[in-house]
This record gives sequence, structure tokens and C-alpha cells, in this order.
Amino acid sequence: MDHLPIFLDLKGKRSLVVGNGATAARKADLVLRSGSVLTVVAPELDDELTRLASDYAFTHKEGPLTIEDLSGCLVAFGCSIDDAVNQHLCELAASSGTLVNLPDRNESCDFIMPALVDRSPLLIAISSGGASPLLVRMLKARFETTIPAAYGRLAEFAGRYRDKIKSMVPDLTRRRRFWEAMVSGPVAEHLFSSQVEEAESLMEILLEEAAVEGDRSPVGEVYVVGTGPGDPDLLTFRALRLMQQADVVLYDRLIGDGILNLVRRDAERIYVGKLPNDHSVPQEEIGKMLIRLAREGKRVLRLKGGDPFVFGRGGEEIEALSDNGIAFQVIPGVTAAVGCASYAGIPLTHRDHAQACVFVTGHEKDGKLNLNWNSLIQPRQTVVVYMGLSSMPTITGSFIKHGADPATPAAVVENGTRAGQRVITGTLESLAARTAEAEIRSPALIIIGSVVNLREKLSWFAD
Ligand code: SAH
Repeated sequence: MDHLPIFLDLKGKRSLVVGNGATAARKADLVLRSGSVLTVVAPELDDELTRLASDYAFTHKEGPLTIEDLSGCLVAFGCSIDDAVNQHLCELAASSGTLVNLPDRNESCDFIMPALVDRSPLLIAISSGGASPLLVRMLKARFETTIPAAYGRLAEFAGRYRDKIKSMVPDLTRRRRFWEAMVSGPVAEHLFSSQVEEAESLMEILLEEAAVEGDRSPVGEVYVVGTGPGDPDLLTFRALRLMQQADVVLYDRLIGDGILNLVRRDAERIYVGKLPNDHSVPQEEIGKMLIRLAREGKRVLRLKGGDPFVFGRGGEEIEALSDNGIAFQVIPGVTAAVGCASYAGIPLTHRDHAQACVFVTGHEKDGKLNLNWNSLIQPRQTVVVYMGLSSMPTITGSFIKHGADPATPAAVVENGTRAGQRVITGTLESLAARTAEAEIRSPALIIIGSVVNLREKLSWFAD
């Protein structure tokens, strides 16, 4: 992050605006609305500042700016049309410890001002660090239209009950659920339609129920969620929703930061990934962990690369849950074969080339590949090999040994759907050498069949 977003409490604290004009008036308005004690240093007050003076009390000083103006001052805005004045402000501020903002001059600022969506006490601040003001304006417009004005009322209402709920529902997990039910249920609906009294009596009923429930132990649940091959845009809505409400997340190596960042910020994160050839957390252990966490009443998110049921051991994990009477949901994800094929421009079952598509694992057990080669080498069939990178020479060699045409097109897709995607094409004869030469790394997927040739025309994703 280039900046640390914070919300300053300026109530009763001093601030300074130097200069006049529309920008000065806007900054003055903002600090006054947040309760600051403002001084404006400007040769005179223009129309906008004069209008502001009829709503708020602030001190006007004609100038010149002196170090005393900055004494005890937390923030200052340099809005003068004379840049020398703004520079002078920066120099004085450096010695007084005041933070300075020069609108539209990010490089000389101690802090920048975000765009605001104001539903006080709910505030949404948006910034691109100056990189794209247009994008910020678009996002602000989107929030303005999608967040009802009544959300401010909802936040204010919730604030009034915070302490009471804390003492009546001491358990954190239970309290979080209480709030979730409150903000998305009938209490909120009544507030949105200005029926405050009804909302209050409903709230009392909810509170009593929550306090009684407090004596029973909470019941957790496990969400086994497929996240697709890497591009976060390929998540399902359901996956995203469950990711945002989980209390704890178990994830492994294939889950990139782009996806992990979408999990609720304060959810506990547990890495259970296996490093190549190093089964760090045994499957059985993961199963036990899921059961234990769910029994603690937590909503447990088990994130899986691709689809949980395609070479993902999702089946084993929910078997353990089912044996132990733990509730679970399985959310499908775009499996690597499908994601990589799309992003590489290789239609797996193009009608002119293939009537079938087979997914196999190239993972060797005890140094051996136990594949039914004859069933894989069929006319008009595409074969996709997962986990086949290290055994690629054996795989392509076995295809040829069992009668496949050495000129059969084949491709390997590294980091499919992600920013670093690479695709190498060749034939059964040449692919292993080309892959080694290009130093392809895991995760990588092999696609074998004449559909690979279509990539030349259909490739669209920049890789
Ligand atoms: N459940 C997953 C597969 C897990 S097995 C799914 O449905 O996709 C792990 C293998 O998947 C890797 O060895 C690799 O062959 C493949 N894989 C997963 N993500 C990939 C990606 N982004 N690019 C290429 N291959 C990928």
C-alpha cells in the first residue's frame, strides 16, 4: 500500500486551510463537519467561504501565515493559488509536526484526501493514490447508487446497542452471527422504511433469544469451496459469499493472494498446503482440524484450487465430516482443465476434432504411472493430464509406445488463467523437450489431441 487509510478524530482539534476558492471551501467544509476548530488564512473570504461562515463558526485571518497559526494544529490544507504560499506552509508544518495536504499535488503531501461516500456514521473512503481519479469517481458513483441512504441510520442504530449486546452475548462468534442476522433481517428492513419503534421492539426480541441461546453450544459448519484455477474473477457468487462470512479458513498452495484477499479480513488463516514431495499436513490431519473447528461452533472455509471433486480430495474430506455428523456444503469451481483450455484458446471438444475429453492424473504412485494407455489413445478424444509435469517424458513416451501418432498435437499450460500464464505447444514427440527448455514450473496442465492446433487461431488471453 502506498498510503495507510485512517479515520481521524478531529473533534475539538485545530486545523488550518490556507487560501480561498472552491477547493479551500470544500476542505474547510469537511473539517468543520468533523468537528474541528478551523482557521482560514486568506487575504479575504470569497463567496463560498462566506456562505460556509453562515453555517459554521471558524476564524478568519487575513495573513500572512506564521508558525503560530500551526501551533497545536493537526492537519493543514494548502489551497492558495500562489504556490509559494503553499510551499511556505509545507516548510512551517515540517517544524510544527502538522500533516499537510496540497490538493491535486500528491507528491508533496503528508496525506491525501479520499473520495467519500457519506452515510454518517458510515463512511466509505476511496482512493487510487492518484493513479486513476476516473476509476475512483466511477466507484464512488456505484456506491452512491447501491448503498441506500438509510444505511447511516442502520449504523447509528447498531452503535446504540453495541455495549448492551456485548454484555448480553459475550461469545464473539455468536455475537457476530447476531449482527449478521440483524443487518440483513427484519430489524434493518424496518429501519430502512423509517419504522424505528418497530425496529426497536424487534431488536429486544432478538436480543432475548440470543441471550437464551448463549447457554447452548453453537454449531459450526464447513464450506468446501472450489476457487477455480487462479483468476479471482472466476469465483462463483456463492463462493464469494461464503468466503466473506467464514470465521476460519484452511487453504493450500494453489490458492493465490488474489483469492485469499477476498476472504473476510479478520478470519483466522491456516495454511495446510503440501509442498512438492513433502506432505506437510496429512489429509487425515486436515479432516480432524475441520471437525474440531466446526465443533467449536465456527464457520470453517476449506478453500480448494479448481473444483473440490476433481483431483481435489474434497470427497475424502467431506466423508470425514459426514462420519462425524458435521454439516457441510460443497461449492463447485472451474476446474483447471476447463479454465486453462479457455484461457489458452483450446476448445476441448471442438466438433471437428473430438467427441470425448478425458481427465487423468499424471501423479506417480511409488514411481509408477498406472494409466490405461489403450483407453487414452482413442481417435477423436482429447486427454487432459493433471499433475503430469514431472512425469511428462514418461507420459508422452508411453502414448507413442502404445501406438499414438508421435505427431499428435500437445500443449502444456503453466499458471493457467493467471497473469503469468505460459502455453507451450508441440507434439507428443517434441513437447517434453520444449517444456524442459522453457523451464515450465508447477502448476501446469498437459492437453493432448488435435484440438491443440486450434490455439493458433483462437488464442486470446495475453500470455
Ligand atoms: N482440484 C483441482 C486440481 C488439483 S490437482 C482442479 O479442479 O483444478 C493440482 C493440479 O491441477 C496441478 O498439478 C496442475 O496440473 C493443475 N492445475 C491447477 N491449477 C492450475 C493452473 N492455474 N494452471 C495449470 N494447471 C493447474
